Amino acid sequence: MAEDKEVIESTEAKGLNFVEEEVLADLKAGKNGGRLSTRFPPEPNGYLHIGHAKAICMDFGIAEKFGGTCNLRFDDTNPVKEDVEYVDSIREDIHWLGFDWGDREYYASDYFPQLFDLAIRLIKEGKAYVDDQTSEEIAAQKGSPTTPGINSPYRDRSVEENLDLFMRMNAGEFDEGARVLRAKIDMSSPNMHFRDPIMYRIIKTPHHRTGTTWKVYPMYDFAHGQSDYFEGVTHSICTLEFVVHRPLYEHFVKELADDSYCPRQIEFNRLNLTYTVMSKRKLLQLVKEGLVAGWDDPRMPTISGMRRRGYTPQAIRKFIDTIGYTKYEALNSVSLLEHAVREDLNRNATRVMAVINPLKVVITNYPEGKVETVTMENNPEEPESGTHEMPFSREIYIEQDDFMENPPKKFFRLAPGAEVRLKGAYIIKCEDVIKDEAGNIIELHCTYDPDTLSGMPGAARKVKGTLHWVSAAHAVDAEVRLYDRLFDVENPAAETERDFREMLNPESLKVVEGAKLEPFAAQMAVQGQKFQFQRIGYFTPDYDSSAEHLIFNRTIALKDTWEKVQKNA
Ligand code: ATP
Ligand code: MG
Repeated sequence: MAEDKEVIESTEAKGLNFVEEEVLADLKAGKNGGRLSTRFPPEPNGYLHIGHAKAICMDFGIAEKFGGTCNLRFDDTNPVKEDVEYVDSIREDIHWLGFDWGDREYYASDYFPQLFDLAIRLIKEGKAYVDDQTSEEIAAQKGSPTTPGINSPYRDRSVEENLDLFMRMNAGEFDEGARVLRAKIDMSSPNMHFRDPIMYRIIKTPHHRTGTTWKVYPMYDFAHGQSDYFEGVTHSICTLEFVVHRPLYEHFVKELADDSYCPRQIEFNRLNLTYTVMSKRKLLQLVKEGLVAGWDDPRMPTISGMRRRGYTPQAIRKFIDTIGYTKYEALNSVSLLEHAVREDLNRNATRVMAVINPLKVVITNYPEGKVETVTMENNPEEPESGTHEMPFSREIYIEQDDFMENPPKKFFRLAPGAEVRLKGAYIIKCEDVIKDEAGNIIELHCTYDPDTLSGMPGAARKVKGTLHWVSAAHAVDAEVRLYDRLFDVENPAAETERDFREMLNPESLKVVEGAKLEPFAAQMAVQGQKFQFQRIGYFTPDYDSSAEHLIFNRTIALKDTWEKVQKNA
């Protein structure tokens, strides 16, 4: 306890978000015996996305901050949509983000017996009844926020009949949808969720953990609060859409809790991000219809997609920290996330040279067969990261974009008669442009100034442009996958006229074969390695990459080109 107090006091000085303030107030007031226990409750019906990362940072982060614990609870109450593949991916993604639940891995399905017992008790107390109506009939009787609902004709069934029917529902005697168990609360409550909410429905699909034991499954509202209670959760932190569910959460929890311990729900704003969608249903559709290469397609807003693309957990957590937690819904700019990714990679990525669209340059006055090595910094942001050697020879590749035959005035790259510095090497001058019969430029003939290498008298000679390059004879071929935003409208979820799939960005993936890498980049190309291809962007080897066929994903371009496009528009 003394230790807890210290934690509380030392944290108080720092800026707290509103959830942290509420939790701190409860701890100070000694609620729940001064305990703090949270949970992250994913439904295993899809992969986690960046929105979930925000919830994870809150649930695990607040427990860490105030000396509490956070459970991982799979909210597995709907066997139709759930799968162990999702359970595994969820575990992996939370660990990757840097959080751990120790031995506290729970499942809502662990509580099916207790929940069933509670349902039986509520039936016996006249607080629940079996309704034989269809879901359409039940919905039609719900009323509206301004008009009261209508009581179900089955509302006043006897306790005996309700018990008998509910047991038979669970024995599998009735079809799915034939009957439901409803709480008997108030069909005229101003809170629609109080209008005799459904507690249980019949589902005959086997459950990934409990098999065919159960034929009735609890609804979210009947399962969540009680699961919190069974687990000893003190603060059930969720997103704003649950504000309207809170009274019902409290209503059901009251059936179990006493003065010494009662879980409490607190809500914060969900993360919505521009140029993507966050709905698991839509993401699943993209996967199922093959519109992306899978849940971990690097264009997906999933944690696994971002990992594959080369985003780091540090960058994601920094971004979530930056946007913060509020009580108002908002749409966050993906540029902020990308900014966090660039900042992190700028500090940590290894600098290498790679030419994406190669144009051959022959340095006509450089001796044939000669090879020199030049020394390159691995990361100027981090001097301890050292240097590596790069070969230079008579034939090199530069980027096609870095040459223009008829350049505009402010073009400082290569052009006929112009001089540029090859980064880390010599100054060259373009003497001749070689074309094929169709008039396409196939190579450049240049001369070099032998006096301009580092350490030589002419090393300091200034020219306006510096280009990246690789030695042709030493270069290693690679495929690069240039990813861009998945959608080309800012908020696809807000467009009601068009199907979201029509808003997919047709330019979201460009595959380029035959990129040329300096040998060091090829040697270093192991899973998880982060590179900056100088002047181009940040890249990481894809999962499909092998020594025989190198494949790099572009994590992000060096600069935010979308901002430019918008400014010019
Ligand atoms: P659905 O319930 O529609 O399947 P969901 O995105 O709510 O989808 P859950 O698995 O229920 O998925 O979410 C687990 C937790 O993550 C919940 O507490 C939820 O509030 C939180 N969460 C989900 N989406 C976001 C988001 N965009 N921003 C912040 N938290 C989110
Ligand atoms: Mg949910």
